Amino acid sequence: MTIDAKPMSCEEFQSQLAELVGSGANVLNHPHLKECPNDCQRLYQDLQTIADAAKQLFQDQQPEDNLWERIESAIKKGDA
Ligand SMILES: [Zn+2]
Repeated sequence: MTIDAKPMSCEEFQSQLAELVGSGANVLNHPHLKECPNDCQRLYQDLQTIADAAKQLFQDQQPEDNLWERIESAIKKGDA
């Protein structure tokens, strides 16, 4: 997945964040993360921490297809 360079809202960015982290993209280079005045940096760090833990959990097996959806919805719930 390529990272789109055009500006986006936090809502748009966060809707893609789990997918970006899951794809192994370098999210720290994302233009939104550099300019975001809100919580996206913190959200990214939380998500990366969860992603690393999930990778260790699933390192011997294929992650479930909906793993990232579940992580994303868990974070949205916690962030609301
Ligand atoms: Zn943001």
